[in-house]
Amino acid sequence: MQDVPLLISRILTHGSTIHGTSQVITWTGEDEPHRRSFAEIGARAAQLAHALKDDLGVTGDERVATLAWNNAEHVEAYFAIPSMGAVLHTLNLRLPPEQLAWIVNHAADRVIIANGSLLPLLAPLLPHLKPVEHVVVTGPGDRSLLDGASVRVHEYEDLIAGKPTSYDWPELDERQAAAMCYTSGTTGDPKGVVYSHRSVYLHSMQVNMAQSMGLTDEDTSLVVVPQFHVNAWGLPHATFMTGVNMLMPDRFLQPAPLAAMIESEKPTHAAAVPTIWQGLLAELTANPRDVSSLGQVTIGGSACPPSLMEAFDKLGMRVCHAWGMTETSPLGTIARPPAGVVGTEEEFAYRLTQGRFPAGVEGRLTGPGGERLPWDGESAGELEVRGPWIAGAYYNGPDGEPLRPADKFSEDGWLKTGDVGTISADGYLTLTDRAKDVIKSGGEWISSVELENALMSHPDVAEAAVVAVPDDKWGERPLATVVLKEGSTATFETLRAFLADEGKIAKWQLPERWTVIEAVPKTSVGKFDKKVLRRQYAEGELD
Ligand code: ADP
Repeated sequence: MQDVPLLISRILTHGSTIHGTSQVITWTGEDEPHRRSFAEIGARAAQLAHALKDDLGVTGDERVATLAWNNAEHVEAYFAIPSMGAVLHTLNLRLPPEQLAWIVNHAADRVIIANGSLLPLLAPLLPHLKPVEHVVVTGPGDRSLLDGASVRVHEYEDLIAGKPTSYDWPELDERQAAAMCYTSGTTGDPKGVVYSHRSVYLHSMQVNMAQSMGLTDEDTSLVVVPQFHVNAWGLPHATFMTGVNMLMPDRFLQPAPLAAMIESEKPTHAAAVPTIWQGLLAELTANPRDVSSLGQVTIGGSACPPSLMEAFDKLGMRVCHAWGMTETSPLGTIARPPAGVVGTEEEFAYRLTQGRFPAGVEGRLTGPGGERLPWDGESAGELEVRGPWIAGAYYNGPDGEPLRPADKFSEDGWLKTGDVGTISADGYLTLTDRAKDVIKSGGEWISSVELENALMSHPDVAEAAVVAVPDDKWGERPLATVVLKEGSTATFETLRAFLADEGKIAKWQLPERWTVIEAVPKTSVGKFDKKVLRRQYAEGELD
């Protein structure tokens, strides 16, 4: 067979010719969104690559960073940078500033493409970003914030104007780095995951399979998951393979504009973490809108509460639950029920699992002593995975060599996910917790996720997060932190009785410590931040 390298430039060329009329639609907050065809994106990506090379001197596999929302220009950067041989480095704009600075310095980003609306974040950071020489600004925003900065500031549109609309994309090695994304530094410094052209290409093909997202050029996908969070779960690349239109929310991620864009642009698919959907659900309950176009909603990033899946089902938005990590590109498992189960009573339980490994991902469970555990739906252990789009190391340790910490990689090279769960005989993964969130009570494990899901199925509970707190007798016990809906009359006694009802939760697992909070603290990508809750408890703030 011909040895044609699997390159991102090939995805771009395919998308911008075969699917040239498909569109990237960017929400502007005005009456009319901005529309740009894949053909135009292809031409402008070529112009951007010329500008980066000729005007800013980008060479080799140097990193080029983006500090941007989901929008058409960010898609152009997604394709231009790797296609020319450089490495797209997406910066998570919600990280604490000192972490962002650490990451830019570690990756040695010399050029940052930034949205104008994010200059209030970038400008004060610039003096701490040693390697940065050029800032390229796109879209609306106050440029004067960069006055006096010791970098060269460029207007994106001026920079690309007049450049050739095609580029002789180089024939790269498909194993070469194409993109990088840092995990948030929940423990220690953030760690860089580097995706290759080959890994992106293969991952995109899997995303497009019917048993994964299975979208076609008749679909429009509302890409809520940020482009700085694991490549927007692979959607920009996958859609260029199949011609799926992308609806990009830019900075309008609040429930009301999301509901408005669904009603007016009628996407058929959407992808985001559960907290976004909880917000949308509350909005739709208060202000009903026509969201009937949205047939499929991919939920991942943290466990999908059953109450959310049920509520979405009722609105005609069918949830598909998936699991992944920054290290897994991210598609690791996806919960499509097996043949013969759709329409039966068993279906819902299958959909609530994290799902099956798609072709290209292998998984295994490892017990505390390193033993392999059977797929029997009962033996719980740490999930380990391997495959062509699973990280084999992190970018540059202190010695400049790839970093392979023993708690993240097994001796035989599998990724240790830090997630604990079971796998059924028919291959469905059920995660019970993150290893660091599991509550170890008297030698037994209590799943914080199970308690949270049970609590969130109570009609008066808006959100609930459960964390382990030290206990003299049992080692650890659960602390339930609960956000009540407005006007709720629920008490801890009624919530406890609700959990105990019908054996939802075993008696010994019922929390005896409770607290009402205003909102669950969230991480930079919208997940419950249990680290913060544990700290607040330790500092006596949650009594
Ligand atoms: P971070 O570590 O900053 O949260 P990632 O997005 O890489 O960044 O998070 C990956 C983790 O998110 C997984 O290891 C897992 O704990 C959790 N996760 C992702 N999807 C799911 C899911 N469907 N169910 C439960 N947990 C999930």
